[in-house]
Amino acid sequence: MLVFSWSLVVLLLVSSSWAEADVAVTEEDRSSELSVGELLERANRHRTPDFDEPPLIGGDIAIKPEGDRNADPCTARGCKWLKNTDGKVYIPYYIANHYSTRERDIIVRGLQSFSSVSCIRFRPYQNGDREWLSIESRNGCYSYVGRQGGGQTVSLSRQGCLYHGTVQHELLHALGFNHEQTRSDRDNHIKVHWNNIIDGMDYNFYKIDTLNQGTAYDYNSVMQYERYAFSKNNLPTMEPIPNSNVSFGKATQMSKNDIDRLNRLYQC
Ligand SMILES: [Zn+2]
Repeated sequence: MLVFSWSLVVLLLVSSSWAEADVAVTEEDRSSELSVGELLERANRHRTPDFDEPPLIGGDIAIKPEGDRNADPCTARGCKWLKNTDGKVYIPYYIANHYSTRERDIIVRGLQSFSSVSCIRFRPYQNGDREWLSIESRNGCYSYVGRQGGGQTVSLSRQGCLYHGTVQHELLHALGFNHEQTRSDRDNHIKVHWNNIIDGMDYNFYKIDTLNQGTAYDYNSVMQYERYAFSKNNLPTMEPIPNSNVSFGKATQMSKNDIDRLNRLYQC
């Protein structure tokens, strides 16, 4: 009888630790199944900015307070990072020290993912650098579009922004790219359901003169938000046309088109 009880206790202990492991794995899996657009919306939905943080448009694009919401800063005044004589574009970055090693590793992996597919080389900040990305955990995930001059914040909050795809998405903003759904040719590919958009958030869907670089509209771009983005009633805010069943906004990392566009903009 004693033997039986002990084995029962062991069995209970083992199964409870399995259950805990299960829960942890499921939580991790659920996040990794979410698209970049879903992750960004989830991270920014209930965001309360500090007084020194910039206003956002499009969900996660930082703008200067005096900025024009409808103008693409990149086409309006140029926003490319400068190319070195060796043909590479070196972009200094500084990563705030409030991240854990694991979190920092995710960010560095995102930065390095550009090296194998383009001429972009993110490198650590050095004394004397005049323009750099300051990667910090502020309120939400966001970045300015293109090079701003001086240090520019890329916020990757420890609460919800530390995924490979979200890091790539914010870095593509910093490199000069906007959201796919704001492309000037958007209406040929996506129907916007204005009635389903959260009141006052229409501007997230305004078309702008984006840097398409002659590439096709890409439903699988890491810059394309998903079907229910900014929905106030759980009905779609965007549908692909002509076939509304086509899957879109499900990217979890940069697409081939995202990479092609980047290489064309920087003439890699
Ligand atoms: Zn974005």
